[in-house]
Amino acid sequence: MAALNFPLLTLAQALDRMLGKVKSIEGVETLDLTNAAGRVTAQPVVSPVNVPPFDNSAMDGYAVRLADLDVSDPLPVAGKAFAGVPFSGDWPSGTVLRIMTGAPMPAGAQAVIMQEQAEPGPDGVRFTAKAKAGQNIRRIGDDIRLGAEVIPAGRALGVAELPLLASLGIDKIQVLRRLKVALFSTGDELQPIGAPLAAGQIHDTNRFTVRLMLQQLGCDVIDLGIIADDAQALRAAFREADERADLVITSGGVSVGEADYTKTILEELGKIDFWQLAIKPGKPFAFGRLDHTWFCGLPGNPVSAAVTFYQLVQPLIVRLSGRVDWRPAPRLRARLLAPLKKTPGRMDFQRGIFYGTPEGGLEVRSTGPQGSHVFSSFNQANCFIVLDAEQGSVAAGESVTIEPFNHLLLS
Ligand code: AMP
Ligand code: MG
Repeated sequence: MAALNFPLLTLAQALDRMLGKVKSIEGVETLDLTNAAGRVTAQPVVSPVNVPPFDNSAMDGYAVRLADLDVSDPLPVAGKAFAGVPFSGDWPSGTVLRIMTGAPMPAGAQAVIMQEQAEPGPDGVRFTAKAKAGQNIRRIGDDIRLGAEVIPAGRALGVAELPLLASLGIDKIQVLRRLKVALFSTGDELQPIGAPLAAGQIHDTNRFTVRLMLQQLGCDVIDLGIIADDAQALRAAFREADERADLVITSGGVSVGEADYTKTILEELGKIDFWQLAIKPGKPFAFGRLDHTWFCGLPGNPVSAAVTFYQLVQPLIVRLSGRVDWRPAPRLRARLLAPLKKTPGRMDFQRGIFYGTPEGGLEVRSTGPQGSHVFSSFNQANCFIVLDAEQGSVAAGESVTIEPFNHLLLS
C-alpha cells in the first residue's frame, strides 16, 4: 500500500521539510500607510528625516553660553524660546535666554540649566548649580538618523511600526502582495453554517475556523466551499485552486477511510511530500505540491484541523508571506494541577488553562475531554500542554511544558 512509502514524521521533521522547501512570494505593491496594517515590508524602510529634526531643549529653563556663567552674576534674560516659536534676534554676551522644553536651541547656546536650579530676580538669574557643555540638549538625530534603517524587510506592520513611520512623515510604503490561499472542505456530510441538517449531516466548521485564522494572518482567502467526496469534483476543485492560489488548504479526506479521496487525487495531480505525523491530535496531515501551488491537507476532525493549522500551516504561511519577524510562541514550564492521561507514541497537544501564581510560578490544568472531535476543549483553553512522544501519563504536581496561544488561536 502507498501509505508505507511515507514516513511517520515528528513535528520538527515535518516543519523542517516544509520550511526548507518554500520561499517567500515576490510581488510588491505600494500602499498608503493607512491601508498597510498587517502587511509585510518588501524592503527596509529608511528614515527620510532626523529625529529630533533640530537640537532642542529637554527642560524648561535657561539657555546659556558657558563663558558667560563665569563673568557676571546675575545674568539678565535677553529673550525667550518656545516650542514652535524659536528665539530670533540678537543674543548679547553676558545674558541668558529663557527656554522651554522642545524649543529649538538658539545659535551659540551650549547648555540648558533647568529652572529648578535658577533663581530669577529683578536684575537677572542666579544659578545654583554648575552647567556642563551639552546638558539638557536633545541633539538632532539622537533618536533616529536621516538614512538609518528603521524597519527591516519582512516585518509585519502593526501598532509598533506604523505610527513610527507616520511620525517620520512617510505616507506610502512598499509591501509584499497578500498570500493567496484557496480553501475547501471535503465531506458528503458537510453543510454550510446555518443550513438545516438532515440525518447524518454536520456543519462545516473547519472552513470557518481556517478562514478566520487565514484572515488573521493577512491572507487573501479564496473560499471554494464544500466539495463532495467524489473524485471528479475534487479533481476540479484542486485544478481551480492550483490556478488561482499560492497555497491550497483542504480539510478532511486525508485519512485511510473509503471516502478519503483527497490523498489519491493529490497523488494523481501533484506530489505528496508527507501525510502522516507522529502528533496527536493531527496524525493525518498531508503536505506537498501541485503544479503551481503548495498544498496542506488538514484532518477532518475539528481539533486536529485547528492543531495542525496552528503548528504547521501557520509557520508555513508566515514563511510564504515573506515575514522574517515571526517566532513560535515560547514554551514554558508549569506545574500540573490534575493528572493527565497519555499513551507513549505520539507528541500530544492537549488543551489547557494556565495562570500565574502569586509567587510568580505557573500552574496548568487540562480543559477536560481531549478527543479530536471535542472542539469545545478550545473554549476555555489558553495554551497547549505539550507532551513528548515518549511521555506516558503525568501525575499531578509534575512539571509540564505549555505553549500559550491567544483567543484567535494564533501564536
Ligand atoms: P475525515 O478526515 O474526512 O475522515 O473526517 C474525520 C471526522 O471529521 C469526521 O467525523 C467528519 O465528519 C469530521 N469532519 C470532516 N470535515 C469536517 C468539517 N469541515 N467540519 C467539521 N467536521 C468535519
Ligand atoms: Mg471525510
